[in-house]
Amino acid sequence: MKIQTRFAISPTGYLHVGNIRTALLNYLTAKKLGGKFLLRIDDTDIKRSNQIFEDEIKKDLEWLGIEWDKIEKQSLRFERYREALENLKKENRLYPCFETTNELDLKRKKLLNMGKPPVYDRSALKLTNEKIKILEREGREPHWRFLLDHQKIKWNDKILGTISVDLTSASDPVFVKEDGQFLYTIASVCDDIDFEITHVLRGSDHVTNTATQIQLLECMGSNLPIYGHHSLLTGLDGNNLSKRFGSLALRDLRLSGIEPMALASMMSSLGTSKPIQIFHTYNDIIDNFQLSSFSSTPTKFDPDLLYSISTKVLHSTPLKGVENDLREIGVPEDKFATFWEMAKDNINKREELLEIWNLCKNGPGSI
Ligand code: GLU
Repeated sequence: MKIQTRFAISPTGYLHVGNIRTALLNYLTAKKLGGKFLLRIDDTDIKRSNQIFEDEIKKDLEWLGIEWDKIEKQSLRFERYREALENLKKENRLYPCFETTNELDLKRKKLLNMGKPPVYDRSALKLTNEKIKILEREGREPHWRFLLDHQKIKWNDKILGTISVDLTSASDPVFVKEDGQFLYTIASVCDDIDFEITHVLRGSDHVTNTATQIQLLECMGSNLPIYGHHSLLTGLDGNNLSKRFGSLALRDLRLSGIEPMALASMMSSLGTSKPIQIFHTYNDIIDNFQLSSFSSTPTKFDPDLLYSISTKVLHSTPLKGVENDLREIGVPEDKFATFWEMAKDNINKREELLEIWNLCKNGPGSI
């Protein structure tokens, strides 16, 4: 079997440590199994997607040493999504809805007040053709929902084990918005089919989406990929990390001098039964990597631990790994080895090399 994984990311913000866990699991799984790793830009939301974020995402991945074999952009595939939707309409699995956002909000609140789950009541299915025509004449644009089969969906998750999701308690997902924007589920499933994705590894916040996607894949006559849902990262207090998003953006870590292999070492073992090891190459990470060793319980992320791993990575970096830095600050080649031996244990970040070199050059014990 040709292995193909993907990292699917919306270019609506900077990458943060949580995203990196997903990217790494997909990258490492592909490489471990001799497969390919696809970078998928989920930019169907034209208004919120931004080329600047896409460029930054690529820069962050490159800095981390995660190389993609192929890149795909959803905004270039609207024709394909349109075609898939037409087929679903023909099979009566897609239906037009005319409720406004306010109307839907009201319905949701009512149900919640009655202590019921806020599941869409499918009232649009009761609209007669005449009524639909009237609404259209009034200039109302429909959004389109996928008609779920109310059944239990089961799969064997590579991280969570056997999972069963009852779609009876799920709302029919919207595939296209009033303004024509394609939403995540339809785009993602078309892509997973067309790009022959064999493993879908993502956060456990996608478990219900997976059940819907399995049903859609079956409806479109496709084989199912293997699924794995990793736990979400939390802060040390157990709260969601996204609240502290800013300081944990990869861009900030990169600019603050964190060693990329420190982040890769930490994220490839955090939340597994193994202790965190220091790795200097992806080959070593791949040798030690095992998807099944990831636990399903929320994983605490400690930024201070990342800083201390980064220092350890730096201290154990062989001379070859810092030659460029030494050259840049003006250390003569014949002094590289002596200088690095002396300097390495006295720094926490590469940028501190300059200060030490200045001391060595000018100080009493200059080398
Ligand atoms: N763009 C989606 C996200 O970032 C992709 C999820 C997926 O299918 O992997 O949540």
